[in-house]
Amino acid sequence: MSEPAIKIDPKTGLKVFNTRAAKATERIQGKGYSIISDSSLTTLPELPPGATFNAAEQAKYREFKETRRGADDYMAMEGEFTRYLADVYSAEPVPRESLHDECEIFIVGAGFAGLLLWYRLKAAGFQDVRFCEKGGDVGGTWYWNRYPGIACDVEAYSYFPLLEEMGYVPSMKFASGFEILEYCQAMATKFGFYEKCLFHTTVDTTLWDEKTGRWTVKTDRGDVIKARYVLLANGILTTPKLARIPGMEKFKGESFHTSRWNYHIDLTGKRVGIIGTGATAVQAIPELAKTVGELYVFQRTPSSVDVRDQRATKDEERAAWANEPGWARARRARFAKISAGRTAIQANDDYLAGKVADFKERKTYDRELSMEELMEKQLEANFRIMEQIRARVDTIIKDPKTAAALKPYYPYGCKRPTFHDEYLPTFNLPHVHLVDTATTGGVREINERGVVHEGVEYPLDVLIYATGFQWMATSTFNMIIGEGGKTLREKWVEDGTKTFLGLHTQEFPNLFIVTGPQGGGGSFNFTDAIEAHSEYVAWLLTTMRDTGVNKVDIHKEAEVRYADHCAKADIATAPLRDCLSYYNDHGKAEPGSLAYYGGNRWHKFRRDAQESLEPYRFSKI
Ligand code: NAP
Repeated sequence: MSEPAIKIDPKTGLKVFNTRAAKATERIQGKGYSIISDSSLTTLPELPPGATFNAAEQAKYREFKETRRGADDYMAMEGEFTRYLADVYSAEPVPRESLHDECEIFIVGAGFAGLLLWYRLKAAGFQDVRFCEKGGDVGGTWYWNRYPGIACDVEAYSYFPLLEEMGYVPSMKFASGFEILEYCQAMATKFGFYEKCLFHTTVDTTLWDEKTGRWTVKTDRGDVIKARYVLLANGILTTPKLARIPGMEKFKGESFHTSRWNYHIDLTGKRVGIIGTGATAVQAIPELAKTVGELYVFQRTPSSVDVRDQRATKDEERAAWANEPGWARARRARFAKISAGRTAIQANDDYLAGKVADFKERKTYDRELSMEELMEKQLEANFRIMEQIRARVDTIIKDPKTAAALKPYYPYGCKRPTFHDEYLPTFNLPHVHLVDTATTGGVREINERGVVHEGVEYPLDVLIYATGFQWMATSTFNMIIGEGGKTLREKWVEDGTKTFLGLHTQEFPNLFIVTGPQGGGGSFNFTDAIEAHSEYVAWLLTTMRDTGVNKVDIHKEAEVRYADHCAKADIATAPLRDCLSYYNDHGKAEPGSLAYYGGNRWHKFRRDAQESLEPYRFSKI
């Protein structure tokens, strides 16, 4: 007989769960990047002579940006489009009764952040911890995103959390998403996570009750759970969005979003269209092209496509790491010291392995440069990288019109940089067609048969939306009501986004937001941020337990000062991100309201707070 969905652990008296859903399908395709032996694809061409970010080039960047201003028009998957959100990866939810009870710590999300939080909290002696997760299994991003070609873009040895504890070494430098998903499952099994988690369970509302000092969490499974602490670990790019395109509801073929890749639809030999050319599409398109009959890529803005140079993990690396306790943590710490996006992603192996002291030769100047001079130098260096990336397009792409359309004109890193050695060559294949929709601000018409652009109809059997996710804005923010009776979103809309470390926000006591707006761990390796956040939360909860308090809020001044710092850091670095991107809500975001641009200064704020305890208002209820 199968285990019941809920039972009581006789040792602890706590409920343990068995709600992990069975897999819906074993069908997957395209396990990440291939290893490419052609060195012309794995090295960037030389910098074209005379390249300098002069007035003409700056004007070109501005024009490129202005052509696209206001073109972003997205919609949530509501009404008839709710079907795009269905969990295609798991079997039906495991039936269970609703819970009407209490726990000490309630955590939303079972991705990397949830898994790491559990690891830290368990080590700190917290047992009465419960998780809920929308999906049928662990993995978060790596649960939902299973498109062909998926792989991590930060080197796997620095990206996978807890490698030493797991005794694991990723198989490739840029591991496939399927390997990462399996790794998450292995972590969950090893650390006893599964019995703590309610899968296929989504939070509906979370309401603070000052009298009892508890959050009341209600879920779509009828649960009413009171919790002392609530932690949001449900990601920063979680909620998929669709481009709003007139006529999209009329399309009679199959369609889906990349974050719900439907392997039940056989694409072999089919006419397939994909809308969007961001990081997801760049990885998926080369794999799609290997299967489909005709592929139409509807592009509004080209990604910057740098070299990947994928490789397998070497035997000597495995041997060295087997004898080097703490190797992965040390490597991640070295990785975190690299602040420039491209350098980090190209991640020099000798530096990361600790064989050489620095990752690049440092330039020295005979006098101290002003901020403006430094910015100018950075913009110039940035331009040179982009020139090489654009030169790469010309070197690879045979058709000049296609090559022109594939060249990005904006600062490197302003949109998410991508890396691939098969993406560009894909556009030389006779059955792959790039449809440049920049002039109309993207695809503007869909009918029963397919996409229509500038009077030309592109009939399709399958249409794939690679149109991305809401950034730094999960719907959860609408559903949490704090001490003042406002939702988190209302507070931030009315008063501007204000947090302390991204983790606390005033009037939402005992609520911790992991890697939310203004959150940061001083690195763009997401694992660094969640590691820093989970260690911080474990420290705070332990401190409270040890000092006999059970309520923490933060002082208004602390969040005002921190939000001001976030805004200043954003403004100071803004010229390096001068384009329209989801990072800046397509040019509409208030400075400092979304991602954190203060680098390692986040750690300074954290350390100061931990030493002085000044930002906190502790009490006992
Ligand atoms: P995205 O970067 O938001 O891309 C959405 C794409 O849809 C953009 O190219 C956008 O063009 C396009 N688009 C929107 N409306 C359109 C229209 N009407 N017509 C034509 N094109 C339209 O989403 P994503 O590619 O899913 O990536 C999201 C993020 O997930 C990445 O930036 C990255 O942080 C993460 N990611 C990471 C990895 C990895 O590490 N392996 C892989 C994939 C994704 P515009 O640019 O003009 O707006």
